[in-house]
Amino acid sequence: MNEDEKYMRLALEEAYCAERQGEIPIGAVVVCDGMVLGRGHNLTETLNDVTAHAEMQAITAAAQTTGGKYLTKCTLYVTVEPCLMCAGAIGWSQIKKIVYGASDSKRGYSTFTQSPFHPKATVLSGVLAEECAALMKRFFADKR
Ligand SMILES: [Zn+2]
Repeated sequence: MNEDEKYMRLALEEAYCAERQGEIPIGAVVVCDGMVLGRGHNLTETLNDVTAHAEMQAITAAAQTTGGKYLTKCTLYVTVEPCLMCAGAIGWSQIKKIVYGASDSKRGYSTFTQSPFHPKATVLSGVLAEECAALMKRFFADKR
């Protein structure tokens, strides 16, 4: 397992946690120099808040851990492609690397824009994508 898969596995753990709570199963972690600074999963039902996406939770947690609002040296791992709102927040936080699992052709940022992130940020997609996508598929299949 490489570094990116290792941290995506942590994001997946968060996603499973969301699933158990009846939340849309998406998880995220923020990592810097091998340290996990923040982690979170979708909490929109629990908090009755449409902005409570996994990425927002992880970014807020990481900023609290570091005591600084910018996460310039950090990598964000998220199980599903960020939406426009989260992509905007990731941009504001100046995160330097974004790694995501499954693509989201409907709500994912890349459907709308190619460069919502910091100009120097890099993006890696498709990490453990099948497992990330399977979790989402199962969730929405159960809902029907
Ligand atoms: Zn989002």
